[in-house]
Amino acid sequence: MGEAPAFFAHDLKEGFLNGFGLKSKGCETATVIGNKTYLVDGGCDELLLSFKVQIFDHSQGTPINPVVLGTIPNSCKGHSAIALNEDRILFIKGGSPLDDAFWFLEVDTPYVQEQRKSLGCEVVAWSKGVRGTVEKPVVVSGPSGVGKGTLISMLMKEFPTLFGFSVSHTTRAPRNMEKDGLHYHFTERSVMEKDIKEGKFLEFASVHGNLYGTSVEAVEVVADAGKRCILDIDVQGARSVRASSLDAIFIFICPPSMAELEKRLRARGTETEEQILKRLRNAEAEIKEGESSGIFDHFLFNDNLEECYLSLKKLLGIDASVNTCTESISEDLDLPPIVHSVSRIDNKIIISYRTSDLDNESQKMIVLDLSSIKGGAPGRTRGLEAYAIDSVTNGSTMINQTS
Ligand code: ADP
Ligand code: 5GP
Repeated sequence: MGEAPAFFAHDLKEGFLNGFGLKSKGCETATVIGNKTYLVDGGCDELLLSFKVQIFDHSQGTPINPVVLGTIPNSCKGHSAIALNEDRILFIKGGSPLDDAFWFLEVDTPYVQEQRKSLGCEVVAWSKGVRGTVEKPVVVSGPSGVGKGTLISMLMKEFPTLFGFSVSHTTRAPRNMEKDGLHYHFTERSVMEKDIKEGKFLEFASVHGNLYGTSVEAVEVVADAGKRCILDIDVQGARSVRASSLDAIFIFICPPSMAELEKRLRARGTETEEQILKRLRNAEAEIKEGESSGIFDHFLFNDNLEECYLSLKKLLGIDASVNTCTESISEDLDLPPIVHSVSRIDNKIIISYRTSDLDNESQKMIVLDLSSIKGGAPGRTRGLEAYAIDSVTNGSTMINQTS
């Protein structure tokens, strides 16, 4: 990691702000990366509900208000910032539980570069830091009627605590048995287009004449519940996910023949004749693209359903003996409003603060290990590991792993 200065909220360099004709409120951090300074207001005056970002390009005299993507952290009493790898800044929120304490502002990651190019303006993106990892999401694609939904339902039924379904948004009308929020979020095109512009979607595509998309939230709520996320999306969507920061496994389900595919679509009885013909026409192109695009890691033939399901379980590394209980993580540590210092040794961030009780004052430290971080904006940054080091004045040191 390259060295870059960080100023803490309580000792923010007034001179920097004065240079731009601004006055410090005492709750900002200014972090320099390259020839830009990122001024972040954490909102200690209670009027600001969430963090605010301004960029000062040293070659220009005026501050820039960037387009801010991702989930913005709520304001807090005090925060610290430290630049990482020249492309993102780590924020540590004082007075927050560990689950809400670590946030990344991406300023030049591939996602931000791509958004900057497509929007034609300065862009930054927030990503919440989450401790621990969950297994890679599973993307399932294949032509309509091949059996994706059936296989996914079998998996969810057998392993309800292991897998969670990413509920997509769509502009198509619900089928008879479909429930809003369970099978899809059924939505208006104008609403979905607005949300896409605001960066709320991981991917979207026009499929069989309707708009379908996976929101960032749809994937993250599954992972937050400690479950492995399953996405049922078309080949265009799989291509977008491949290009995104989501590290997933890609599976393509093939039909035994076009005649069998047609038979299944008709037997399902959910589409009009016109829609069936459209889906069959699109199926040929989808199968060709699926096989030749290099997007997919695995191909499964859904001829005999039970055999195909067994193959799916095998490639996901699960069988009947799998432990379906997820371990719960105990949480009781809050960061104090003001931390004493934040420093970095390679991929480890050392956060130190003081606490005092009746008998003694102790210096405490939290070590945040960033060596295995994964994902990022517009979703969460996962894989953070936090350790509490409690060095009491009598010299004894106790180490608790808090994740
Ligand atoms: P998709 O989600 O890919 O559009 P579905 O899961 O809805 O497809 O399956 C389409 C129809 O085919 C359903 O009626 C389902 O019961 C049936 N089906 C799925 N797999 C098989 C199979 N291997 N053999 C016969 N019918 C199947
Ligand atoms: P259906 O209308 O039969 O539910 O779905 C039609 C197609 O849309 C299927 O191929 C399905 O995989 C795809 N699809 C469903 N949700 C999404 C999504 O969120 N994104 C994309 N790109 N495709 C989706």
